[in-house]
Amino acid sequence: MMARYRYLIVGGGMTADAAAHGIRKHDSTGSIGLISAESHAPYNRPPLSKGLWKGEAEDGIWRKTAETGAELHLGRRVVRLDAGTRRVTDSQGTVYDYEKLLLATGGVPRRLSGAPDGIIYFRTVDDYRTSRQLADRKARFVVIGGGFIGSEVAAALRMQQCEVTMIVPQAGLGARVFPADLSTYLVDYYRQEGVTMLMGESVERVEAVGGGYRVHTKGAGVVAADAVVAGLGIELDLDLARQAGLTVQDGIAADAQLRASQPDLYAAGDVASFMNPALGKRIRVEHEDNANTMGDVAGQNMAGAGLPYDHLPFFYSDLFKLGYEAVGEVDARHETVADWKDPMKEGVVYYLDAGRVRGVLLWNTWEQVDAARVLIAEPGPFRAADLKGRLPAPR
Ligand SMILES: Cc1cc2nc3c(=O)[nH]c(=O)nc-3n(C[C@H](O)[C@H](O)[C@H](O)COP(=O)(O)OP(=O)(O)OC[C@H]3O[C@@H](n4cnc5c(N)ncnc54)[C@H](O)[C@@H]3O)c2cc1C
Repeated sequence: MMARYRYLIVGGGMTADAAAHGIRKHDSTGSIGLISAESHAPYNRPPLSKGLWKGEAEDGIWRKTAETGAELHLGRRVVRLDAGTRRVTDSQGTVYDYEKLLLATGGVPRRLSGAPDGIIYFRTVDDYRTSRQLADRKARFVVIGGGFIGSEVAAALRMQQCEVTMIVPQAGLGARVFPADLSTYLVDYYRQEGVTMLMGESVERVEAVGGGYRVHTKGAGVVAADAVVAGLGIELDLDLARQAGLTVQDGIAADAQLRASQPDLYAAGDVASFMNPALGKRIRVEHEDNANTMGDVAGQNMAGAGLPYDHLPFFYSDLFKLGYEAVGEVDARHETVADWKDPMKEGVVYYLDAGRVRGVLLWNTWEQVDAARVLIAEPGPFRAADLKGRLPAPR
């Protein structure tokens, strides 16, 4: 089989959908093909670990990709990319020729080495559905990892009154992002919510026994569970990029207009790195706002818009009743200055490097993302005292 598209999108996530809509802002008729390894059309991932556990309907997650007229080829993985002949081949042997191609292949969850089948590496709507069925049966869960996914899924499962044990190698939750006091505060907060927290602890081995699991840890012994969810971050599959001879720099290196290093080939979303002017460095972002905005700009540029991608993405999360938004380099390795209105409950944390604000964490503090972006773009230098009371900005 053979197909030919003016625009071909590889990937079926939020970036891919945003790109299809972006193309249509400039080209209402050019053919669009979208190839996704998932058997579902594109959908929003954030609700899978948040809203869907708080009563939001699953119907609400689906993106409206079909409205762009894109032809969706689902349940197929692109396995070959030849940038010279502008041709890709999928896992069913179908060949597609393109004029413009976007790689929006995202990432794949990191797996536990040597672990048995059935562990939920939480990323897709199918992972959500599996977890939901288990939660409805009040399964006992072990959640491995204290980053975004682990923390959110543990809270979601606990809110369904499931027994939940978290196994986290660091001393705190979100330890790579939050300052140490906030990160350890969250551990107590989760304990109060009824989650068993095994901190500074790692998994040695997972054993499948009689329909459940025994999770062997280095220090705490064995934890029995009906289900195991792992949130260990993602890895990038850069095989197609290598086949096409693309420059890889922490992901596929995209230029200011999101072109990869071969003609008519673009990259966006979790898989692509880009130069961010405000931070003055190349970054790669694994968050929704980036997927949506970068996908949109890539799509527009595929259709000839020539726009720079200079957006500094934000991200957000919900943990039980706490919530936050964050912009820039919220990296716990930076110097942090906390300005609390109510300690650990409401306030702003600034992340500084050499006197410049590199990132801002808005903890239960809303509608300040743009003001935080302005602050990050300022040259400084800032001292801690300069930042007290800077945000929330007067409106
Ligand atoms: C449960 C969950 C909750 C999240 N919550 C938040 C949040 O609250 N806030 C936030 O900012 N971010 C959140 N994120 C992160 C955000 O969802 C990601 O940054 C975003 O999904 C990235 O989109 P993407 O399209 O670039 O990549 P992906 O979502 O990874 O999509 C890539 C797609 O490409 C397909 N694919 C890969 N390789 C191939 C191939 N060779 N051929 C065909 N198809 C292929 C994959 O199957 C997949 O459909 C969350 C992520 C998850 C999993």
